[in-house]
Amino acid sequence: MKISRRGFLKYCLGSAAALGLDHSTLGILEKVLATGSGPPIIWIAASNCTGCTVSLANRISTSKPVDVADLLFNTVSLAYHPNLMGAAGSLAVETALAAERSKAFILAVEGGIPTAFGGRCCYVWNENGRDMTALEVVERLAPKAHAVLSIGTCASFGGMSGAAPNPTGIRSVRDITGVSTVNIPGCPAHPDWIIGTTAKLLAGSRLSLDSDGRPTDYFRSTIHGSCPRNGRDWAETIGQEGFCLRDLGCKGPNTRGDCVSRKWNGGTSWCIGANAICIGCTEKGFPDRFSPFFSSAGALPDGHPRTENQSCSSCHGSSGPGGDDDDSGGGSQLPANHPPTGGQSCSTCH
Ligand code: SF4
Ligand code: SF4
Repeated sequence: MKISRRGFLKYCLGSAAALGLDHSTLGILEKVLATGSGPPIIWIAASNCTGCTVSLANRISTSKPVDVADLLFNTVSLAYHPNLMGAAGSLAVETALAAERSKAFILAVEGGIPTAFGGRCCYVWNENGRDMTALEVVERLAPKAHAVLSIGTCASFGGMSGAAPNPTGIRSVRDITGVSTVNIPGCPAHPDWIIGTTAKLLAGSRLSLDSDGRPTDYFRSTIHGSCPRNGRDWAETIGQEGFCLRDLGCKGPNTRGDCVSRKWNGGTSWCIGANAICIGCTEKGFPDRFSPFFSSAGALPDGHPRTENQSCSSCHGSSGPGGDDDDSGGGSQLPANHPPTGGQSCSTCH
């Protein structure tokens, strides 16, 4: 069974509130789909595990037995996708280059960009007999694109592929191009986040982004803020149904996303619902900032050097900034760039 333009529109209509699509956006999207006038999408796979593509494919196929490749190529104009396109070799590359020449394309990048070794750890295609690195292609296409989507935490912030010791010098798309990207993080990104953002871009709607470039439709609140375990007793061991997992290392207080209500795998469950901690997969600095995952010390502030599972108090005072031994009013012992705490202890957030 394949999905038509009408089928895609029905999907967007049925999920409009969940996808953050308002009435006027849907009206414009209907026209764009009817006329095929939306910009083509060039999807580049840089240093990645293809998990975000699998996540996208999974969402479509769980709601109906539809063909995601058909959705992307025949409904949305996807000019290039290394895993889903039927074409191969120079024919596939020529389609991408034709979209590039159209000057109205959307660039979607999955994966971090290797910068070490002149970028030669990751090639995306061959142009006129020359293998082109992800670094070269993304640097060339991003400034020309109508919009740049960083799909997943690797493209958005470096993510898993840029974790220490990062021998290939992975950096985010925004870092290497200087272009303001729309970041759709997650390890992997949720398919609704990708589809909802793409639908808004196709409809020409203005996207509201937070300071990390993430759509506020999906990344407005912390996981902790709406977690059903908020306020419950703390679990002492994994597997205690309904207890708060904070003392086992849950990073929900430091992590933005709507996993609590949206859930994963077609609304089946989500990390904490499955009695696992939130590991902070949508945040800048993931995974290093959130490692070790099962440390009760929680997440490190962005830019904080790695610790060996020490508690905050080993460097910042026995009760943390603003604690009984800190006469600074919550200021002088804070790490550089740490926002004022208002006298809270480290463990409130970390
Ligand atoms: S710490 Fe984690 S498990 Fe506990 S309430 Fe917050 S998000 Fe939920
Ligand atoms: S609950 Fe946390 S770790 Fe799990 S998918 Fe959501 S943001 Fe990522």
